[in-house]
Amino acid sequence: YDMQPFSFNKLLVESAENTRYLSSSHEVVLKNAADVQILGDNVRLEQVLNNFLSNAVKYSPKGKQIIIDSWIEGQQVIVSVQDFGIGIAPSHIDKLFDRYYRVDNTAMRFEGLGLGLFISSEILKRHGGKVWIESEQDKGSTFYFSLPLAPEQVEHRVKGIPVNVPSAETDLA
Ligand code: ATP
Ligand code: MG
Repeated sequence: YDMQPFSFNKLLVESAENTRYLSSSHEVVLKNAADVQILGDNVRLEQVLNNFLSNAVKYSPKGKQIIIDSWIEGQQVIVSVQDFGIGIAPSHIDKLFDRYYRVDNTAMRFEGLGLGLFISSEILKRHGGKVWIESEQDKGSTFYFSLPLAPEQVEHRVKGIPVNVPSAETDLA
């Protein structure tokens, strides 16, 4: 892993743009891109976002919104990726991050290996992050993940220097 400080909001903006470019079938909304520095592997974290976003595209009908949001909670940044698609039954949720795990009925309708979420959770673990899901079948899913802020910024926050720009809506649609 190539751990470097980088601008997290830039990563969010680029991931949203990339998804719009690849999937004009959905309306990608970036509500707020937290203006923080993360100490991490930019390329791998981009892969994480793209896994969540490509799942949101794959497992929700054309024309639906995909909503990306991010905010700071304590010394973490939290990101959510919400879709209005097929959702996930509660019995599957705990297993979703297992290698090769796919929900049977979806596996038949959509192509995939069942690796995206496994890889994403491994990358997030290596960054000291966490991942969790809220979902309702036939309504949609929200995937959340957290990442620790870069140490320098945490220091600033402790000293009371603001590090996030007040949430101007960053909707580039
Ligand atoms: P790939 O390896 O190409 O990513 P995949 O999308 O099937 O294949 P994962 O991304 O790991 O694999 O997802 C695992 C399973 O979790 C999927 O097969 C699907 O059943 C379920 N899943 C993932 N994201 C969503 C979502 N946004 N909505 C509903 N089900 C989802
Ligand atoms: Mg996937």
